[in-house]
Amino acid sequence: MDRHMDQTPRRHRLSLAAGVAGLLALVAVGGVAGQTDSPPGAAWPGTRVEAYELEVTPSFETGSLSARAVLHLVNHGPDPEAEVPVLLNRLLRVSAVRGAAGSDLDHDQDVVAFDDVPDLRVNLVRIRLTEPLAPGEATTIDLDYGGELAAYTEVFGYVHDRIDPAFTILREDAFAYPVVGVPSFGARIRAGLHDFRYTATVVVPAPLVVANGGELLGRETRDGVTRYTYRSIVPSWRMDFAIAPYRVLERDGRRVFYFPEDSVGARRVFDALEATKALYADWFGPLHGPQGFAVISVPKEFGAQADATAIIQTADAFADARGLESLYHEVSHLWNARALDEWPPRWDEGLATYLQYRVAELRDGSPPVAERARTLARRVRADAERNPRLREVPMIDYGRHRMTDASYTVGTLLFAALEDRLGRPGLDRIVGEYYQRYHETGATTQDLVRLAAELSDGASDQLFDVWLLTTRWVDEMEDWFGER
Ligand SMILES: [Zn+2]
Repeated sequence: MDRHMDQTPRRHRLSLAAGVAGLLALVAVGGVAGQTDSPPGAAWPGTRVEAYELEVTPSFETGSLSARAVLHLVNHGPDPEAEVPVLLNRLLRVSAVRGAAGSDLDHDQDVVAFDDVPDLRVNLVRIRLTEPLAPGEATTIDLDYGGELAAYTEVFGYVHDRIDPAFTILREDAFAYPVVGVPSFGARIRAGLHDFRYTATVVVPAPLVVANGGELLGRETRDGVTRYTYRSIVPSWRMDFAIAPYRVLERDGRRVFYFPEDSVGARRVFDALEATKALYADWFGPLHGPQGFAVISVPKEFGAQADATAIIQTADAFADARGLESLYHEVSHLWNARALDEWPPRWDEGLATYLQYRVAELRDGSPPVAERARTLARRVRADAERNPRLREVPMIDYGRHRMTDASYTVGTLLFAALEDRLGRPGLDRIVGEYYQRYHETGATTQDLVRLAAELSDGASDQLFDVWLLTTRWVDEMEDWFGER
């Protein structure tokens, strides 16, 4: 995977993480979007985590965990910062906080609601450093914490997280580890995603397996207890540890962690993964960066996600070929360049959905992309009739207006329209060149528009005008996706 891919949030719409992604998820699950439309409040701290050292021991008897986290911090802000605010799951409590010199740091903790999402409550731990951290300076804080892990299904439909021997996932979405930040989605989305490295040890009873997308540094079993130690392969904005009685399929540095009853499906997933990667490499050119990664099966209600080196896939993908579409979707995100827009409009989700259709058409004999696009167009037109915001806000502003749920649908139509006008080779050239040119630096949506114009001799301009820069698509839908 590309070393910068980790900086791009890329997940299935049902599985967006807390923070920036969580905001998108709130929009995606609907109903909350209006409430989150207020201007961002609290300022996001300039102090960021560069690296985590984490050791977590879940107790399946008590449904709780005990953990130690060392956060290596750097102040990226313009001002000295005397306090580091840290968010944890609302049932997790910090028992000790130490500074770089090992001395105890003054702190307080309170369960608070997000200022823009009242149902989302977290333990806000305010840690006062011995001295203010100057801009550019580094320090560490070392926390002991523990307790039960509360689910967040009332806010994020897929966050059923709990400590359970059948399946446990430790992830940012449920604040299972300390996240530096303030309880405000507005502030979080403005701050964007920041990458960190990690080394993490998870201690489980021997029959259980810990799955993660990083490099497995060690797996030691002693007295019926196994310590799994993973290290990130590339910096990423999230880390996920899934614990279950997994089996593992491994080939060429790639791993599929699957439930014992899914062995046939796991093989199918592995083959689909290899075939899909080959297709995208053929269409868009080589993938850069480390190639190894993991596919981790999770129960359906936990949602699918992807980060730099792992695809967390719902078990339904293992159960039938149709479920593989979310895999096609997630794998396509590996060929995204990091979004540098201030408010990424997330057209990459439309691209991923378009590509998922296209791979399904090729591999599984699913209906042709054009046919599915026509069906989708009818749905989107009905959406636009009901939702005036879709008629007012062009796709390029979906990020700013927190409407990126529509990036999945209108964005899909944008790429289906591109295919219609430029042909698949024309579209592939644009998408492939965008990735090949910008995978190291990242790029903005305007860079895509410029590049497409360059590669298509201006043929893409009208199309982006209709679908991305204005809402003319609302009135012109028939011209693009009417029955022919
Ligand atoms: Zn996606």
